[in-house]
Amino acid sequence: QTHFLSHSLQAKMSKQVQARRLEGIDKNIWVEFVKLATTYSKVNLGQGFPDFPAPDFLTEALRRALGGGNHMLHQYTRAFGHPPLVKVLAQFFEKLLGRDLDPMTNVMVTVGAYQALFCCFQALVDEGDEVIIIEPFFDCYEPMVKMAGGTPVFVPLRPNPPKDGKLMSSADWQLDPAELASKFSERTKAIVLNSPNNPLGKVFSREELGLIAELCVKHDVLCISDEVYEWLVYDGKQHIRIASLQGMWDRTVIIGSAGKTFSATGWKVGWVVGPDRLLQHLRTVHQNSVYHCATVAQEAVAQGFQRELTLYGKPESYFVQLPKELQQKRDWLVQSLDEVGMKPIIPEGTYFLVADISQFKSDVPDVPNSDEPYDYRFTKWMVKNKGLAAIPLSAFYSEAHKNNYTNFIRFCFAKEEATLKAANEILKKWKQEKNSS
Ligand code: PMP
Repeated sequence: QTHFLSHSLQAKMSKQVQARRLEGIDKNIWVEFVKLATTYSKVNLGQGFPDFPAPDFLTEALRRALGGGNHMLHQYTRAFGHPPLVKVLAQFFEKLLGRDLDPMTNVMVTVGAYQALFCCFQALVDEGDEVIIIEPFFDCYEPMVKMAGGTPVFVPLRPNPPKDGKLMSSADWQLDPAELASKFSERTKAIVLNSPNNPLGKVFSREELGLIAELCVKHDVLCISDEVYEWLVYDGKQHIRIASLQGMWDRTVIIGSAGKTFSATGWKVGWVVGPDRLLQHLRTVHQNSVYHCATVAQEAVAQGFQRELTLYGKPESYFVQLPKELQQKRDWLVQSLDEVGMKPIIPEGTYFLVADISQFKSDVPDVPNSDEPYDYRFTKWMVKNKGLAAIPLSAFYSEAHKNNYTNFIRFCFAKEEATLKAANEILKKWKQEKNSS
């Protein structure tokens, strides 16, 4: 009897457990580097989240939602978004896009921007479809396209270093128009646009967006526009929404994140805004997977937006204040890195900054026969030996192009002044040690 049982159990376990669509996407940069940062870092400028508090008006709204009289806020709400939140988002985006929006059909609330992206790929990409991804890119686009059965097609932003010896800017990384055009074909279903871009901080110009829009219209291609950093633009730059360009509204899904917008990444409230002809299919994925995200969090985010709607464009607006504060933080980190020869690429937006580590090769022990790229080895060595956590830039490239971009790492500067000062101390001490050795 026992023998028979164990035999049958063994036989059952010989089938492959995992679905084929998971093949080749099991590694995840965040799982690996968050663990390293937790174990070794004294100063964590790795993963993208602020270490300063979310604004009081937002946390107070959550407290009110939790403890106020409306106990129904602890129950399920509407699947596609808590009504007060979709209503205020519709009002807000009507202002931004200059068109009328129906809160029930043109807006959907998701579990962070992550789930918005997941809904897009599952709903819009079929087996055999190609999806154009601009490199460097937020890493999850590639596995998400693959999980939907699609084929990612990569096109890089190419750096053009300034000739006058000035620091590079994220604006110096540009698409080659002919190269971009060559990626569009009959098979192209969608392009993913991320402006302001993680990790470079590039804010795409009107001309660049115009070029992308023209190609989308010409080839009947959809645009998945990840705009989670829409409020984080610096030096008077303007974030332009591709959906507002000619012919683009009907083919664009705009993705946003309360996590990035209100410095509360742990809340995991995101949204999509777009035409019903696209959103109706995202709703199918959403209703058959997560249904909705926490009601109280949606209620509080709705109140946050209500406040911002009233203060729109005024100096007290969080969407005006946050980028001002972050620009100062960006400038501190730029200076710290420049002083030690880790040349920063000045970002026009987001709270990330990419820095050149090619002057630091002699610091990091060579590992013979290792196929691990230099930026990975450097980042691991830095967190273990200097206590400073960052993310290797090649993690934001496809396998085929990774090896061309191993001399850079990404820092997050959405951090308290004390954190950035501590980073500066580490870098200064490191430089002194280098000079004296
Ligand atoms: N898109 C980009 C470009 C991001 O950087 C992030 C977060 N790092 C997300 C989407 C996911 O946002 P959320 O935390 O709202 O899921």
